[in-house]
Amino acid sequence: MFKKILVANRGEIAVRIIRACRELGIKSVAVYSEADKEALHTQLADESICIGASASSDSYLNMERILSATIAVKADAIHPGFGFLSENAKFVEMCEKCNIKFIGPSSSIIHKMGNKAEARKTMMKASIPVVPGTKEPVVTAEEGKKLADKIGYPVIIKASLGGGGKGMRIVEREEEFTSQFETAQMESIGSFGDNTMYIEKYIVNPRHIEFQILADQYGNVVHLGERDCSIQRRHQKLIEESPSVAMDENLRKKMGDMAILAAKTVGYENAGTIEFLLDKDKNFYFMEMNTRIQVEHPITEFVTGIDLVKTQIEIAEGKELPFTQNDITITGHAIECRINAEDPACHFMPCPGTIESLHIPGGNGVRVDTAVYQNYKIPPFYDSMLLKVVVHDKDRISAIQKMISVLGEVIIGGTKTNLNFQYEIFNHEKFKKGDINTHFIQDYFEQ
Ligand code: ADP
Repeated sequence: MFKKILVANRGEIAVRIIRACRELGIKSVAVYSEADKEALHTQLADESICIGASASSDSYLNMERILSATIAVKADAIHPGFGFLSENAKFVEMCEKCNIKFIGPSSSIIHKMGNKAEARKTMMKASIPVVPGTKEPVVTAEEGKKLADKIGYPVIIKASLGGGGKGMRIVEREEEFTSQFETAQMESIGSFGDNTMYIEKYIVNPRHIEFQILADQYGNVVHLGERDCSIQRRHQKLIEESPSVAMDENLRKKMGDMAILAAKTVGYENAGTIEFLLDKDKNFYFMEMNTRIQVEHPITEFVTGIDLVKTQIEIAEGKELPFTQNDITITGHAIECRINAEDPACHFMPCPGTIESLHIPGGNGVRVDTAVYQNYKIPPFYDSMLLKVVVHDKDRISAIQKMISVLGEVIIGGTKTNLNFQYEIFNHEKFKKGDINTHFIQDYFEQ
């Protein structure tokens, strides 16, 4: 059993993890940057340690400082949350060497799945359908073009170490390939320090469907159903829901079995997500695996009743999963919507500022995960997400009605947000009908 966990993150996810620790009777330690001295996670944890200056590279990404802090406070484990060091194999290896339990999979698994080109290869070997595309990483535009010509346009060029939509380019026509490849590669070198790329067939108007996995160290693996994350802006998720209207029992079983096979193939441990694209003919393709807790995990918690963060901690403590696949049922419908401090009138540019007034709604089946409070100064250094508004109701249309009602109550004064933009999406007839795909925002909101 862990006595003390260090939370190597900030914002709402750090708060979420601190709460899980408290519920389990485990002491929590927050790390914070100079900009986060007054942050909620800093105040809520049992202990707090400043780990450096405001820039992430000096604090939340500073592996040595975080490890030193962990050793200094004698914590048994580190929960990385998402982003920052959560999928950094080198950091996990350092934890392993220091005998500190990293709450997540081993460094070798993170290494294997973190390189998306390699992950594709591993999945292909296990006969898991992947998006048609290259088998080996590509480093020159010339070889890339030959392969793209074979795959057939449109194609999508991606960075092997990519994430957050960076290093990704869609190519409609052969003539555009070389310049797009070079731009994507430059972005990959700049963001990930790596020049290896891979190319996939660009699937037209797919849905983004991902499966939540839980795996213990004894080889037990279950899935907790799917999340439909098709509502995206520039490949970034905005709204997520579970279950997906595109799913029936048969398809859920097929995709769920593939997700479990993907996890078993790499000997996965802890919580993870297998992302697929689902085309109009209900063909599905493995896209990537995320080896951490996801932003959108609360919708799965709502429909399954399983606390994912607590389960992550218990798995890391060496406990066996307390349920089997047959025990897991999906009840009702849950939706999450991300409210960000950004200006919709100005290309959704992040808008740091002070929260001058704030009203966070509640109610039956309503959950708001946040780390902001009245008079909170949003630092300009980090992610712009302010609130995750999550609702749960008996069916999709009731959940949408609930979300519309809840969003109508939210007050955030002092900074621009995407609240009205989200409100419009939930009121859109096509959205209400469930007629959505990854191009929804582009098709209806960006003409
Ligand atoms: P990242 O890890 O950078 O977020 P992903 O590989 O998860 O990148 O892709 C993000 C989004 O980009 C997907 O949810 C989907 O909307 C779009 N996308 C990625 N690959 C394809 C593809 N082959 N065809 C169509 N859309 C794609």
